[in-house]
Amino acid sequence: MSETKQKYLEFQKHIHADVILVAVSKTKPEADILELYEEGHRVFGENKVQDLAKKAGNLPKDIEWHMIGHLQTNKVKFIAPFVSLIHGVDSLKLLKTINKEAEKNNRIINCLIQVHIASEETKFGLDEDELKVFFEGVLKEGLNNIKITGLMGMSTFTDNFQQVREEFRKLKLIFEELKKDNSEFRDLSMGMSNDYSIAIEEGATMIRIGSLIFGARNYTN
Ligand SMILES: *Cc1c(COP(=O)(O)O)cnc(C)c1O
Repeated sequence: MSETKQKYLEFQKHIHADVILVAVSKTKPEADILELYEEGHRVFGENKVQDLAKKAGNLPKDIEWHMIGHLQTNKVKFIAPFVSLIHGVDSLKLLKTINKEAEKNNRIINCLIQVHIASEETKFGLDEDELKVFFEGVLKEGLNNIKITGLMGMSTFTDNFQQVREEFRKLKLIFEELKKDNSEFRDLSMGMSNDYSIAIEEGATMIRIGSLIFGARNYTN
């Protein structure tokens, strides 16, 4: 059995069945994806539109593709025909574009709103004040071809696990608060290879795992 398959099976043993595992295959070859596919895995994440579209075109049609990276409005059209969840929505402009492209494809596209929980300036996402304005905007727009199914966040890159825990805890609180007014809320996407166990303890329903399954990448994204 290949190393990737072994790591995947080992990993699956450690997480609860009700946590959705997004296997992050960015920079990895299609053959690696097929190995997990053979084991019955169907949910894969990529962070670049071009790679996502290419892999989706070449691989089995029952794969659920998640866009986990930052998405530019002018590239939405390339993934709108097939993408099943967009994790990183962080502006009304982007959401409106997704809605428009989804409509062209006669689809409803599920989206997660990215929340800025890390202390680094560089990470994308909305802070709490911006979230409020954002959701007010969404209400006014009446977008029929998108569904906001939850939130996504990334913790600070640090070995201070208490800080990571507090960031995830905060995101979970925001999630519960927004859920009161958003009946479609179900996904809380938080946790990667280095912090997924903390994320699950703090209420993640979806984790995004790359290197722990597929091995280290040659370059970081
Ligand atoms: C690359 C990436 C991941 C997976 O990272 P690993 O540390 O390899 O598990 C998760 N989420 C996002 C947004 C990513 O870009």
